[in-house]
Amino acid sequence: MTDLAVEKGKMYGRYSLEPREVPRVETEHRRIVTAQPAPDAVPILERLLAVEPPTMACLPPVLWDRAEGYQIEDPFGNRWIDWSSCVLVANAGHAPEPVVERVRAMIDRPLLSTFAFPHEARAELCERLVARSPEGLEKVFLFSTGSEAIECMIKMMRTWGRRTKPSKKIIVSFSGGFHGRTLGAQYAGGIPPLKEWIGVDDQSFLQVQFPDGYLLEDTSFSVFEKTIEAAGVDPSDVAGVMSESFLGVGPDFFPKEYAQALRRWCDEHGALLAFDEVQAGYGRSGRFFAFEHYDIAPDLFACGKGMSSSLPLSGLIGRADVLSTYPPGTMTSTHAGAPLSVAAGLGCLDAMESDDLVAKAAALEGDLLGACETFEKEFPEHVGAVRARGLVGGIRLVRPGTLEADADLAYAVTEHAYHRGLLMLAPVGLGGGCLKIAPPLVTPREALFESFEVLTESMRIALA
Ligand code: PMP
Repeated sequence: MTDLAVEKGKMYGRYSLEPREVPRVETEHRRIVTAQPAPDAVPILERLLAVEPPTMACLPPVLWDRAEGYQIEDPFGNRWIDWSSCVLVANAGHAPEPVVERVRAMIDRPLLSTFAFPHEARAELCERLVARSPEGLEKVFLFSTGSEAIECMIKMMRTWGRRTKPSKKIIVSFSGGFHGRTLGAQYAGGIPPLKEWIGVDDQSFLQVQFPDGYLLEDTSFSVFEKTIEAAGVDPSDVAGVMSESFLGVGPDFFPKEYAQALRRWCDEHGALLAFDEVQAGYGRSGRFFAFEHYDIAPDLFACGKGMSSSLPLSGLIGRADVLSTYPPGTMTSTHAGAPLSVAAGLGCLDAMESDDLVAKAAALEGDLLGACETFEKEFPEHVGAVRARGLVGGIRLVRPGTLEADADLAYAVTEHAYHRGLLMLAPVGLGGGCLKIAPPLVTPREALFESFEVLTESMRIALA
């Protein structure tokens, strides 16, 4: 162990950088053999703190060295069960064989960059995505990040709307929604503190409260209609309604009747319906696309993250008439359809299909929900709500007797959890009290149960 004189109280974001002695762990799924954070990781973390903006220090100070399946390893012999999937990227697991093989073949060819010049793998990926999508969604626009696909979604909805009539440009979205950190995505986003920096309200973005049944008890569709009316918006001026298929915070799903009423409303008023599947796709919710839970089809939807389980790849999939509004060369993105990302995307589809990962996520839903409910029963005063669908869950920690998120407690839990071999995302949501559970879909059932034991122990210690 390195002899370190870590400055007292030095932090990596909300996590202490002072190595602390923790119980040693050795199971089939986890191994903790050093103090935490690992003393030899600290100088590297300090180098990062010196040269990166502080926002990058947002997750537990674990130095990643290898990631395979549902496990993460550092270079010092420690191994964690991953509950982050890199913010729901590694749905097919970390480094799944089909992804590695496809990427390796592209490197060996070699073909690393093409800009918009055609390559065959791009045709294969777009074709397979169209085949997977609801009927009538026939075009795929590839990009690199989720935000980019969302920006394009907004642009396409407005372009299409304004062609119908110039005032048809309103974009309706939902409170609590996260669509990315770029300008349009944040205007559409439903988390007010995230958009304070913009400093200008744009009246063409309107938000409706999400029917989560928690912060908003009335989950009937009339809330949507009343909000449009109260804002003085003529429904025929709405170009599109967009929402995460499930709200990442929560995770909260629309009641099915609400989603179906929304589809009807859009049809009635000539508005496009668009889903942000960046977090939901593929397979996470126990369906290939999460909007399939509602038995409706959108006009457009954006994917990202889990499209490749690895390299930067996103896409906007939609109706040909909507996605064909820009002539050749007028909407491009330098790295869109980059060969390595596309190869990873194809490998990811291979892995999802050959291992039937959607079914695996669906099969684990009962276990995940049951474990969340058991947790809630042990800590009823501190748990505001639990949610689980497929293999995505959330536990809202609140200050006893209130709906107020308890971010301090949530951070403490994630800190004790990483000390014990369970790697979680930082708490999410307004006020940051939601513990997000999103293991790779390849996680074995026993590892899921074992990680809930760690979570429960971490909560007990945090409360002690
Ligand atoms: N939409 C949703 C639902 C997301 O969760 C995210 C990322 N967390 C984005 C869009 C933005 O994706 P990216 O970070 O790749 O730009």
